[in-house]
Amino acid sequence: MKRLIITIDGPSGAGKTTVSRMLADRLGYKYIDTGALYRGVALEAISAGLNPDDDTGLENILSSLKMKFVCGEKEMRLISNDLDITDKIRTPEISMFASAASARPVVRKFLLELQRELGRDKGVVFEGRDMGTVVFPDADVKFYLDASHKTRSLRRYREFKSETSQTLEEVEKDIKRRDKNDSARELAPLKASEDAVIIDSTHLSAQDVVDRMMNVIEDKKIIVF
Ligand code: C5P
Repeated sequence: MKRLIITIDGPSGAGKTTVSRMLADRLGYKYIDTGALYRGVALEAISAGLNPDDDTGLENILSSLKMKFVCGEKEMRLISNDLDITDKIRTPEISMFASAASARPVVRKFLLELQRELGRDKGVVFEGRDMGTVVFPDADVKFYLDASHKTRSLRRYREFKSETSQTLEEVEKDIKRRDKNDSARELAPLKASEDAVIIDSTHLSAQDVVDRMMNVIEDKKIIVF
């Protein structure tokens, strides 16, 4: 029985988190949201008063940073230096800081090692930007999930409406900026791996996307349980 590494990359709002959770549930796998790790680093850096391009400051923080996921009642909880920070990392400020800091080699190197360690026992669905291209180039199944800019913005807006005062227009602008940062950076830019199956979720429900993914996995004729 083979336990797989499954990667789901794509821009924000494409539905990666919802779909990764559902797919992991279907397979009895763990699910890892790697964006949360970049957000965790951002939270620590903001708390220390750093700018996202302060490599020395970032290196200092990372040298004593211990992040891990633990199973919560409903979702995976992110623990950073013994504190549960899961509910603190979804603000617009942290999104933008994470996007900027994620271009720094010092941050990517630190998280590359952590992410590979999290995949050591396999049986994991990883979602992020460079899971199939850089972190797990030999992943068993790779997906790239996309959707129109309008749809992605609307999803993000609805998701966080009760938690932030951002208007839909502001969310659209933020997403555009983050798309640009994530795709244009030199190191591990957001792009589909050549061997990824690309799914456009603009007109699909999360269930439809998961069904398609399960078909791809089953078509590969690898025993996954
Ligand atoms: O997925 P999420 O929006 O939570 O990710 C926050 C930021 O972390 C992204 O905008 C991106 O810059 C960065 N990120 C990354 N590589 C990943 C996951 C996230 O660069 N694998």
